[in-house]
Amino acid sequence: MDMPGFLRELPKVSLHCHLEGSIQAQTVVDLSNKHGIALPDFDEPEELYDYPDIYEFLKMYDIAAHSVRDHDDFRRVTYETLQEAASHSVRYREMFWSPKVHLDSGVDYQTAVDGVIQGIRDAEVDLGIECRLIADINRMETAEEGLAMVEVVTANPRPELIGVGLDYAEAGNPPERFTEAFKLAGDHGLHRTAHCAEDGPAVNI
Ligand SMILES: [Zn+2]
Repeated sequence: MDMPGFLRELPKVSLHCHLEGSIQAQTVVDLSNKHGIALPDFDEPEELYDYPDIYEFLKMYDIAAHSVRDHDDFRRVTYETLQEAASHSVRYREMFWSPKVHLDSGVDYQTAVDGVIQGIRDAEVDLGIECRLIADINRMETAEEGLAMVEVVTANPRPELIGVGLDYAEAGNPPERFTEAFKLAGDHGLHRTAHCAEDGPAVNI
């Protein structure tokens, strides 16, 4: 076996992936058409993911996330990213997802989380890949918004959702802001993690 083939078949664990950041470009187009959501101009769908920095990426991340609206959408985007992972022999993934961005676009939490979990369960049956979820706190938002998101998550426990984490842009958004949100998550037995020292100081680690 050649080296690329060996590496593809090597069993893997995937510990850093974002559901909304791994929606396939064609799927963003399909779902945006389905729900009448405007996209930036493009010739090929892949151009939607052509961005110069994290801030431009985050704009597209939110647009892609807003295109995911009903149970079937959430199931589809979840299944597709796990299908892609399984094609690279990922056997287990812990995947961030952004409940708040869906709540902001008027999707109720149960629709979102149960659609995602359906995708996880279908992928496990069909492809043998296991996945668990980390609900992310957008650290560019306020302490109150982070706490409110964790309150929604803890009021709707699901066995597949095992933790919370901090993401979005780190610089200028210190983790201390979310002490209360992390405490609540811990009180409910959830694991806690954070993106650290991507563009923030090493003290964040
Ligand atoms: Zn990340």
